[in-house]
Amino acid sequence: MARLRFKAVDEAQGRQTIKVDIPVGKVTEYYGANIFNDDVMRAMLSPEAYTKVTTAIKSGERIDREIADEVASAMKSWAVSKGATHYTHWFQPLTGGSAEKHDAFFDINFDGKALEKFKGSSLVQQEPDASSFPNGGIRATFEARGYTAWDPTSPAFIIYNEAGTGTLCVPSIFVSYTGELLDSKSPLLKSLSALDKAATEVAIIFDRHVEKVSATLGAEQEYFLVDKALFNARPDLMMAGRTVFGHAPAKGQQLEDHYFGSIAPRVNAFMVDFEFECLKLGIPVRTRHNEVAPAQFEAAPTFEEVNLACDHNILLMDVMRRVSKKHNFEVLFHEKPFAGINGSGKHNNWSMSTDTGVNLLGPSTKPKESLRFVTFLVNVIKAVHDNADLLRASIATSGNEHRLGANEAPPAIVSIFLGTQMIKVLEDIENKEIVSIEKGENAYIKLGLNRIPSILLDNTDRNRTSPFAFTGNKFEYRAVGSSANSAQPMMVINTIVANQLVKFREAYDAEMNEHEGKKEEVIVKILKQYIKESKKILFEGNGYSEEWKQEAAQRGLSNVASAPEALKAYLRPEFIEIFEKMGVLTEREIHARYEIELENYIKKIQIESRLIGDLAMNHVVSTAIKYQTKLVQTAKSLKEMELHQEAEPIINIIKEISARVSEISKKVEEMTEARKQANVVEDLEQRAKLYGNDIKNFFEEIRYPVDKLELLIDDEDWPLVKYRELLYIR
Ligand code: ADP
Ligand code: MG
Repeated sequence: MARLRFKAVDEAQGRQTIKVDIPVGKVTEYYGANIFNDDVMRAMLSPEAYTKVTTAIKSGERIDREIADEVASAMKSWAVSKGATHYTHWFQPLTGGSAEKHDAFFDINFDGKALEKFKGSSLVQQEPDASSFPNGGIRATFEARGYTAWDPTSPAFIIYNEAGTGTLCVPSIFVSYTGELLDSKSPLLKSLSALDKAATEVAIIFDRHVEKVSATLGAEQEYFLVDKALFNARPDLMMAGRTVFGHAPAKGQQLEDHYFGSIAPRVNAFMVDFEFECLKLGIPVRTRHNEVAPAQFEAAPTFEEVNLACDHNILLMDVMRRVSKKHNFEVLFHEKPFAGINGSGKHNNWSMSTDTGVNLLGPSTKPKESLRFVTFLVNVIKAVHDNADLLRASIATSGNEHRLGANEAPPAIVSIFLGTQMIKVLEDIENKEIVSIEKGENAYIKLGLNRIPSILLDNTDRNRTSPFAFTGNKFEYRAVGSSANSAQPMMVINTIVANQLVKFREAYDAEMNEHEGKKEEVIVKILKQYIKESKKILFEGNGYSEEWKQEAAQRGLSNVASAPEALKAYLRPEFIEIFEKMGVLTEREIHARYEIELENYIKKIQIESRLIGDLAMNHVVSTAIKYQTKLVQTAKSLKEMELHQEAEPIINIIKEISARVSEISKKVEEMTEARKQANVVEDLEQRAKLYGNDIKNFFEEIRYPVDKLELLIDDEDWPLVKYRELLYIR
């Protein structure tokens, strides 16, 4: 096995940078070349069909059959002209990734003649034999069929394979035959329309021209790169995406010399290459840099409408996986691939904007607009405060459990960072006496709102330890896991904010009716109350500190480190009520999702546990015993030569190895036993709990002696690629 390690190290060290061939010149010349976008539609569809499709995209209306036929036909011609031979509905089942099943355009007709076809019906709807996708018991009770349906709001795209032929991918939702949602995209779409409706009702208080509010997302993606040969020599990376063993290298991230450092040539070539592929798919990647940990990097796009941005993030990850192989890398999206150094997140920058072009979380220089801004800001704060546990549940996975509340922040406590200036603004609103405004008076001056604009515009505070931070014109949800589908947390934010905005509008209408008050006065009165009710969620200090945990507990904020525990929030009646009221998920769908999440959690820990057992016994212990035998021989020889004192240190090492080996063997046996016991537990919640505690607790206990052995055993014999090799060879 050590042979494999050294072979891999040799291979990795001998790599050349792969040359990337991209056209010189402007990005605009190839941006979106592989998508069926607005320009293509305008050129290829009849004016009538074009108008219908674009209206349907804006309003979410259904597209009728004739139009679908015309769109399908245009899509096919376009795709075939670009070298596509197949098409697929591209959807996001609850496995976390995307799914596809390719059908050829080519077919034969009744007399055996070949033809190319793609009918409107195939564009609009397909019935994949989907019985193997997670459904949380929903379909078993009816029938095993599901169908996928075209989402016209996200453009179709072409993905090319190694042979150079392409597949036309049609973004789709995935539902059961009885109508239950079985994917990540459909509830996201529903949450977006709930938010649109609720936010528009509030936005029109300030500007009656607003007809639509869209949520926006810019998802910063962190990842690690590891040489392909080294990756393949680590079964844990291959199968679980993270290392279960490995002693920390002498140099980790303590010098902080990687962050924003110059990018290594091989890595840079990879970045240029995948960005090129992304740009052709209309994914607006803009930023690339080294992250804090060695071998860790980040890619960030310009923000887009949330549904599109979520699709693009899933696609970006897919493109990165494929392109990395070409550059002899493997990209790691796991939240915690290496112990002792930073893990990876996906920072979801979220905001709302109107069809009149206004960012509702963007401060303004005009007092009237400031009031609108503060209104939306405070409503988001209130929504997060009231539904913090739901937000926490939306990011609970076995991978993210290693970050949140474990060895690394952000903590599992949901809190909001605002920055000193914003805090001051809210304090002013909260503490100022309600004044009544007479006719002709300047309401903003009287309410103290005229001072807000100038204060806010230079709000540049940053707090990297906050899970949910206001960053000047958007919120950054930093606790999302790097491997997650953003659709899940985005769906929850949209839903809780929509629900909150509905309540705000109701309160506003009631006050206005009752008191015939001036609108500004009424708004400030409601906001005052919201600030009072939700300010305990605001925290400006160090989210990673021990003091915060204590303070948060005193404030009554939840701190749930365990993923299964956090997921339970989904089942709380008050949250189910919100999902149902906003028309996003039914109680049945929520239960199904909860089950799927728990199953996922159990399976992931089960795989890791098996890996740990296997690697510990068949790689580490076996190597240790062989090495020990060598030492025993040496000690014997020394003793035969009467060199007793010289034999002493060797005997000590032999003893230490023996002790570690027996500890490892014992723990592995106990862990296997615990697994056996857990596997027969019928109750899913109970089983998840056993996996999350009884079984997972062994991981560290086994890792510790294994990592100690790594330091004792001759480097020449150690079978697993070491951290310093994984992290520094590129
Ligand atoms: P920061 O300095 O806060 O990191 P950046 O300008 O680098 O800000 O933006 C980080 C991410 O936030 C980018 O993906 C960017 O497109 C996104 N972003 C900027 N404005 C918005 C917005 N209004 N809504 C959603 N995301 C946004
Ligand atoms: Mg950021």
